[in-house]
Amino acid sequence: MSENTGRSDGMNRRAFLTTTVTASALAAGAMTGIPGLFRMSEAHAADAAPFTFPDLPFAQDALEPVISERTLSFHYGKHHKGYFNKTNDFVKGTKYATMPLPEIVKTAATDPGATAIFNNAAQFWNHTFYWNSLSPDGGGEPGGGLAEKIDSQFGGLGNLKSEFMKAATGQFGSGWAWLVLDKGDLKTMNTANADTPVAHGMVPILTIDVWEHAYYLDYQNARGEYVKAVLDQRLNWKFAEANFQKATG
Ligand code: MN
Repeated sequence: MSENTGRSDGMNRRAFLTTTVTASALAAGAMTGIPGLFRMSEAHAADAAPFTFPDLPFAQDALEPVISERTLSFHYGKHHKGYFNKTNDFVKGTKYATMPLPEIVKTAATDPGATAIFNNAAQFWNHTFYWNSLSPDGGGEPGGGLAEKIDSQFGGLGNLKSEFMKAATGQFGSGWAWLVLDKGDLKTMNTANADTPVAHGMVPILTIDVWEHAYYLDYQNARGEYVKAVLDQRLNWKFAEANFQKATG
């Protein structure tokens, strides 16, 4: 994460400081200026299981009113925690016990005997990435190289958001909408259930969870309203820029 050292945009500082963190996490988060990015690396750069359960990069009520505290408490505390617990349980005593999480996801994706490991490890990874794709101070516009890439490939942020919306609402049943880098091309895509671009050699830039548990308490069946509110008000473009820069820089 050295490429992010020295950034000090102060984003999310209020929400970040309301979250209980260790002194070292606070120092590292302040150093990167991207608390979410730090926590992502902390959670998923561990060599192998048992993994630690990552803190949310904001308070549970910090995404109100777009995502309610009630939704977030169940989604993070029950769904994400469940995938995390099962990942640690299921890899015990298997060849997966010594792998970093992304390698578990990639390897289990093509292992017919490891469906449960894949589903839980991928969902564990996807949810951590999702929290980091959101921000209480989200929305607005990306900058830097990512903004130039969006202009050249989509003809502007508005078109990208339209494509993101199509991916999110076009996913039949449970799954995820993504912005990814695929062989140097910026693309939107959707995946079903636990599937993830990580399993397909792509670089995730941002994601929106479109499982019903992500929005049903707040929006009932109106997935499009949830996606629009997230796209306009809660997407963490700083996180996206950092992911893009890391992959292309
Ligand atoms: Mn979810």
